[in-house]
Amino acid sequence: ATPTAVMVATGVGANNGVLIKGGDALERAQMVKYVVFDKTGTLTQGKATVTTAKVFTGMDRGEFLTLVASAEASSEHPLAKAILQYARHFHFFDESSPNSGTQSDAKELKSGWLYDASDFSALPGRGVRCFIDGKLILVGNRKLMVESGINISMEVENFVVELEESAKTGILVAYDDVLTGALGVADPLKREAAVVIEGLQKMGVTPIMVTGDNWRTARAVAKEVGIQDVRAEVMPAGKADVIRSLQNDGSVVAMVGDGINDSPALAAADVGMAIGAGTDIAIEAADYVLMRDNLEDVITAIDLSRKTFSRIR
Ligand code: ADP
Ligand code: MG
Repeated sequence: ATPTAVMVATGVGANNGVLIKGGDALERAQMVKYVVFDKTGTLTQGKATVTTAKVFTGMDRGEFLTLVASAEASSEHPLAKAILQYARHFHFFDESSPNSGTQSDAKELKSGWLYDASDFSALPGRGVRCFIDGKLILVGNRKLMVESGINISMEVENFVVELEESAKTGILVAYDDVLTGALGVADPLKREAAVVIEGLQKMGVTPIMVTGDNWRTARAVAKEVGIQDVRAEVMPAGKADVIRSLQNDGSVVAMVGDGINDSPALAAADVGMAIGAGTDIAIEAADYVLMRDNLEDVITAIDLSRKTFSRIR
């Protein structure tokens, strides 16, 4: 391709919200064999919503939700945002809550009702931990509970398995070393996701899903979207290893992701595509930025490269 063709393609991309960082990135996209998709916020809308919450001890439901929300208050994770929203809604808008109707301005609901949490830490791929009222609280997945020596009863296990089989993420809560409750979080697929996966397959490109979420939820989501190759329970650093193993035989690999977690994988990929508002760090690590947050632009990007480097010479 001539420099002019590259310039034209870059302009066409920009008009479609596909920002291409240089001619090399544009050239590599035509040869992509695998496109690795992050699940949360990439294939899914990233708009997690709590669909169920269950307390397994005698703890009051409102008390439980306040505790969990307080533990998640310092987390940037979409799951944390969903939990806070749910707890806030329970306390201020739910008729069955004693506090209902005490506040009407949504801005006022941001804080004031939460407990103070100390020694907060976000545990990548696991959840969060902190102390409330001097007691340890853990909010996250099975791995977090198992590693912390928390006993998971059959009742809790069954509840979580049922959530996961319906493509939801199960979040467990342990307070003062007791498994207190669990929540189910749903995050719907982007509307165009299944069509884009089918489109890539028709182009001879193999889609793969990689996620930190558990195997059961991952398989359910992959099935819904039409992806056969799934890698689940991958720690943030592990996403880059998945990319490297696919590159082993010389295959050209693209990675599509949105979050901080995805930056190492975006950087490791031959073609890194940051999607959506993304985080600055993901955008920095990527070769492409898909501004419209629409997965169709993955196809647009590959098409643009193929057209620029084969037809237009
Ligand atoms: P993904 O690859 O899907 O974006 P992450 O690596 O961010 O996932 O998280 C993996 C898993 O770790 C989540 O599915 C969840 O079980 C748990 N997790 C991470 N952060 C949190 C949090 N703030 N609260 C509860 N669970 C969390
Ligand atoms: Mg993500």
